[in-house]
Amino acid sequence: MILGGLQTCSFSDYPAKTAAVVFTQGCNFRCPFCHNGSLLQTKSKGTLSEKYFFEFLKKRIGLLDGVVISGGEPTLQNDLARFIACIKELGFAVKLDTNGSNPTMVEKLLSGNLIDYIAMDIKAPLEKYDTLCGRQVDIANIRTTISLISTGSIAHHFRTTKVDTLLTPGDILQIQSLVPQKSGHTLQTFIPEIALQAFW
Ligand code: SF4
Repeated sequence: MILGGLQTCSFSDYPAKTAAVVFTQGCNFRCPFCHNGSLLQTKSKGTLSEKYFFEFLKKRIGLLDGVVISGGEPTLQNDLARFIACIKELGFAVKLDTNGSNPTMVEKLLSGNLIDYIAMDIKAPLEKYDTLCGRQVDIANIRTTISLISTGSIAHHFRTTKVDTLLTPGDILQIQSLVPQKSGHTLQTFIPEIALQAFW
């Protein structure tokens, strides 16, 4: 795994649990509102070793409930399932954050009972996806991942970063219409000061 950072304790990233947040290095999107610009380069070797991460985690057994795997985009990493299995062996619950671009990996993790919670960003109405993600996006993959998550049995929610200069109130309604009826959806606060691109 190529890791780009670690937040040792969070009370807000995993619903109802205390968790460490580990950030994977590399992302296939370039959302202009991204708050994690340093994590986007896929060719980077990362800044955190697995050895350091697991040594840290062993010291948190009994102190933290879970681990959030965020990014970057975690599902780009081929050995994600192995990495998660090692975390679960230590007794931690695992939440995955994803941009939904890799349904094959999401399906593998779900069918292997490797994750306990999943949060997926729905970035935009489907016709505006390329603009909001800064890349050409395969919309079929986004639809498939929404379906996999919403029809699965694990806890989940969808979320959208609300950028008023990029998303109109009508766009927000369209995004909400993509969220399956029994699934939750939250709007996340956009912080322009730490965005990948300048907003003014
Ligand atoms: S906000 Fe976009 S560019 Fe940033 S890590 Fe998430 S998916 Fe990648």
